[in-house]
Amino acid sequence: MEKKKNEKNKLVYEKKNGWEKIPKKEATDVFKFSEKYIDFLSKCKTERETADFAVKEAKKRGFKEGKGDEFYIINRGKSVCFVIKGKEPIENGVRIIGSHIDSPRIDLKQNPLYEDTDLALFKTHYYGGIKKYQWVTIPLAIHGVVQKENGEKINVVFGEDDAEPVLTITDILPHLAHKIQMTKKMYEAIPGENLNILVGSKPIDDKDEKNKIKVNILSILNKKYGIKEEDFLSAELEIVPAGKARDLGIDASLVLGYGHDDKVCAYTSLQALFDTKKPAYTTIIYFSDKEEIGSDGNTGAKSKFLEDVILQTIENAGKEPTYKLLRTVVNNSQGLSSDVNAAVDPTYKSVSEMNNACKLNYGIALTKYTGSGGKYSANDCHAEFFGKIRSMFNKRGVIWQTGELGKVDEGGGGTIAKYMAEIGVETLDCGTPVLSMHAPHEVVSKLDVYETYKGYLAFIEEK
Ligand code: MN
Ligand code: MN
Repeated sequence: MEKKKNEKNKLVYEKKNGWEKIPKKEATDVFKFSEKYIDFLSKCKTERETADFAVKEAKKRGFKEGKGDEFYIINRGKSVCFVIKGKEPIENGVRIIGSHIDSPRIDLKQNPLYEDTDLALFKTHYYGGIKKYQWVTIPLAIHGVVQKENGEKINVVFGEDDAEPVLTITDILPHLAHKIQMTKKMYEAIPGENLNILVGSKPIDDKDEKNKIKVNILSILNKKYGIKEEDFLSAELEIVPAGKARDLGIDASLVLGYGHDDKVCAYTSLQALFDTKKPAYTTIIYFSDKEEIGSDGNTGAKSKFLEDVILQTIENAGKEPTYKLLRTVVNNSQGLSSDVNAAVDPTYKSVSEMNNACKLNYGIALTKYTGSGGKYSANDCHAEFFGKIRSMFNKRGVIWQTGELGKVDEGGGGTIAKYMAEIGVETLDCGTPVLSMHAPHEVVSKLDVYETYKGYLAFIEEK
């Protein structure tokens, strides 16, 4: 009787919490790996910072710019590819792991500084899909660059050092919020033009000055960065949550931090590349920009940057980078669109379909298709390629699960998968499950972060 029951169970696809499957030795690795990830996430809040950090790490490991068997190509400081030559000839294609290093945030407008009611504030325009009410009354920092008229570029990081002040967006007290907020639809409660950053309140000591508070701020900025108001016009200043990523939970099994989407996939894929001695195929780790606003522009995944990198890869392999060879390489290539997926939230289960949604601690999530409303705008991964990754992950003991972006007709979304697939790359969405996606502080599980790394390592090393 007993035996018969077990045989029957073998037919059933059983899902198990990763902590019940993971080998004891690896459980320690999960926590060790997350320490470095937390450090990275605390330092790299913008696309520029992430690209800079990654290039520095690659250089330490001997990567050269544009040439050799291990190289990187950086695109305007915001998007970057890292390449390692593989055992297979280049004609057989490359392996690509493509993530994005921009995260939802709030950008300063071009002419941001103004004074109102004896306070100084910045006007902003939010970047990506945020729930605006989440971004008020929390400590904020500025990260970015100011391009001066004389060609000098000033790097700005303000509000991260413990000794430094932070900024914030104010909100109206509940006592007076009834008409203006509480009875409105949530997405109307805080209009975009209300996301004004409070930056000061102290007047400059000058009787003739009309905007004393604003001018005092300008004078402080001038002393600190050597800039004047017109310099804001040619600046990219991004407002992000201030402070470090940290352990979350009484058991410290989770990570709370800004920008897991999608720096968790960027970090794990690059780390996997660094830990690979000789990949099966030539491997490209691709960090794209502008994913959160549709992948447009010359640093987004719709640009030709990835193809440029493949052309360089062909040349570095000693071959003539002809259009025909480019097409051969691309059509023989396989890629993971490495982006986060929405984990089931126990408080909001109704938006997920439990047989197909991903859960925290069940490992890296393979998402056959994204899109919305009838798979519209999705890269629907072919069964053959999904099958290949499935076999690969099972062989390597990677803890993985499937995922989808919510119930059918509930909503949806996309990744850079379709832009990778569009040029001919066999592509599957594959990344870390996240809670509170696009909130100032998102949640991931340490086990899932580690399994994401393991999954990418398998993809790089296995044929
Ligand atoms: Mn993403
Ligand atoms: Mn996103």
